Amino acid sequence: MGGFIRSKLFLLGLLPLIISVVVGSLVLASLYWSTGQMDMVAAQRQRDLVSLIVSNMRTEIAHDQESATVWDDAVTNTSERNLEWLEINLGKWMHSYFMHDAAFVLAADNSEIYHFITEEHSANRDNLRRAYAPLVTHLRQRLLAGDTTGVTDRVLSIGESDFAAVGSRPAIISIKPIISDTGELEQQEGKENLHVAVRFLDGTFPGIIGGQYQFEDMHFTRGIDDIEHAHVPLMSSNGEMIGYMCWKPFHPGSIVKNATLPALAAGIFFIFGATSALGSVLFRRSERLSASRAELHRMAHHDVLTGLANRVSFNETLEKGLNTALPESVHGVLFIDLDRFKAVNDTFGHPAGDRLITMVGERLQEVLPHAVTARFGGDEFTAFLKNVTGPMLAEAADGVVHAMQRPFDLGSAMATVGASVGAALATGETDATELTRQADIALFHAKAAGRNRYALYGDHMDELLRARRELESDLRHALDTRTQIETHFQPVYSVASGKMCSVEALVRWRHPARGLIDPDVFIPVAEETGLISTLGSIVLEDACAAIAPWANLPVAVNASPAEMKKESYPLKILSILARHNILPERLEIEITEGLLLDSTGQCQKSIAALRKAGVRFAIDDFGTGYSSFGRVQDIGVDRIKIDKVFVDELARSGNRGIIAGMISMARAKGLEITAEGVETAEQREILTALGCDHLQVFLLSRPLTADQLDALRSKRESAAS
Ligand code: C2E
Ligand code: CA
Ligand code: CA
Repeated sequence: MGGFIRSKLFLLGLLPLIISVVVGSLVLASLYWSTGQMDMVAAQRQRDLVSLIVSNMRTEIAHDQESATVWDDAVTNTSERNLEWLEINLGKWMHSYFMHDAAFVLAADNSEIYHFITEEHSANRDNLRRAYAPLVTHLRQRLLAGDTTGVTDRVLSIGESDFAAVGSRPAIISIKPIISDTGELEQQEGKENLHVAVRFLDGTFPGIIGGQYQFEDMHFTRGIDDIEHAHVPLMSSNGEMIGYMCWKPFHPGSIVKNATLPALAAGIFFIFGATSALGSVLFRRSERLSASRAELHRMAHHDVLTGLANRVSFNETLEKGLNTALPESVHGVLFIDLDRFKAVNDTFGHPAGDRLITMVGERLQEVLPHAVTARFGGDEFTAFLKNVTGPMLAEAADGVVHAMQRPFDLGSAMATVGASVGAALATGETDATELTRQADIALFHAKAAGRNRYALYGDHMDELLRARRELESDLRHALDTRTQIETHFQPVYSVASGKMCSVEALVRWRHPARGLIDPDVFIPVAEETGLISTLGSIVLEDACAAIAPWANLPVAVNASPAEMKKESYPLKILSILARHNILPERLEIEITEGLLLDSTGQCQKSIAALRKAGVRFAIDDFGTGYSSFGRVQDIGVDRIKIDKVFVDELARSGNRGIIAGMISMARAKGLEITAEGVETAEQREILTALGCDHLQVFLLSRPLTADQLDALRSKRESAAS
């Protein structure tokens, strides 16, 4: 319904139509009503006017008569029967002057002294006599009785007048006595001579008053013949219906109406146009509104960078997908985490990082065209796959790992990041929360197993996770009590003298239940939990204590990026050295290449500060990471430690090229060189020949405990003495 109300058809067509029809009908109805009223009032007025004109006609005729009947000459000439005079003054003259159609002069006995009838009415002579007879009788009675009703300043004598049908024709008949105007001629009452005047109401009369008062088609009819005409009845005083004056009534309302209708039609058309235009504005606005609402919805449900679903929307989809799943259908999720995204971001900058994330999104959609893919934020992605089997899910996960292994073209550089994938299958009544948890655990395992791979969740993983949590809390306890952490020392030999020239401190954890735990296992845990700082301090304290008795044996300690990022790091190192009275020159800190990529610059600042104080720096595991000699130079270190993998390579293939290159370049930069993990005499010979300064040789000595190291010193001193 709401959709229809916002539809184009409704807003631009139907609504304007309804409005204009409603408004138009209201205006039309009121127009019809008011003009109808107008016509009704006008018709009544016209009828009143016609009645008035006709009845005025009666008094007028009487008045006409008196101009000659109240006159001494008339009395005299009538009694003398001077027909010539009568013809001139009471007959023809009245006809030509007042348009009376007939005149009679009657003697006291009502016999006719004189008569005048126009040619056209001559056939009606007897009808006329019959018509005026009753009036004559009535007037004589009144004259005899001396009745003066109706005599005024204007009306000089009494008289009788009435409408009458003369034959079939209507007429006004008026009778006046012929009397003295001066009063000098006495007449016997009731014996006065009478003057009868007749005016027919058909004939010229209607035409004349029609023209005078503008009544259209004014005429006389005997009966009402049509409804188009208005009628005023003519009735004699004794109630005889004579006929009707009729005319085409004037309808002012209709004229107004007819004049208004086109304007009204135009108005309605305008209203339609205007409301339609308004509707169009409304429609466009509502379109824009729903577009921006859709955009808001899109933004709330999609990741801006990749256009993939975001966390909120993915969780919704997942929940809906699992809830509506049939019992036999199986769905799966993948959690994808890029392995070296941070390094790319730090090395090439954030715009390049954003590009990489976008490309990862595209690749994901290519590899998983039927899955709902989402970005959870940072370098974490997820995918929801419907109706899959375990092998299908594993295949999809493997596909993602392989796709992410391919280098990404960032324009300015190529980057290889790789990804770890955790996969979980929703079986039975696994809900969204549980499935997410399982995929997360699987991802953790993929990472722990060396990254750049996938892991499918299995129940055993829960056990591993529990073990890791336990390890974490055990480590916390070990660091708190400081009882289980030991530092061992691996001697480093000088190629030139063949003697031990320094030691590297390597941390060990002697777990009360699990025995000795390798740093490779617990260092990552310490790094992730923030315990690495405390661990680093313990190792440095132990290292200082161990070399204190030696005259000037240097010691190397390993530092994690996580602990070096702290601003307080240089101060911590220098204060421990000071407390043990060890010169900063005797300490060498081994850092990894990844640390050189730190974008905050804090590590570089710490390195610079410590080097200024005399502390030396070495790059550990050189050649395995991102660093180049250029960068090494930028940061400023004192040594490189060639990683064991190159030394092993040397033994396997005899290929000296890589190490020879490293050594000659380091030499050119003025750096010292240590080779790690030298296990055979052959390796030792080659490395010596290539020009390494120092060798960390398993062959000569495995890492020693502090006590063993101490014993070594005692042995030396006794040998020397
Ligand atoms: P790394 O710094 O490369 O340490 C050298 C590792 O190689 C040591 O293992 C050492 O025992 C081993 N090694 C030396 N020569 C040979 C050889 O000829 N053959 C073989 N197979 N191994 C050799 P370890 O002690 O297990 O240490 C492993 C890693 O743990 C270290 O690698 C270092 O990165 C880290 N680590 C050790 N102690 C600390 C510490 O106190 N703090 C920090 N942050 N990391 C530490
Ligand atoms: Ca090391
Ligand atoms: Ca190393």
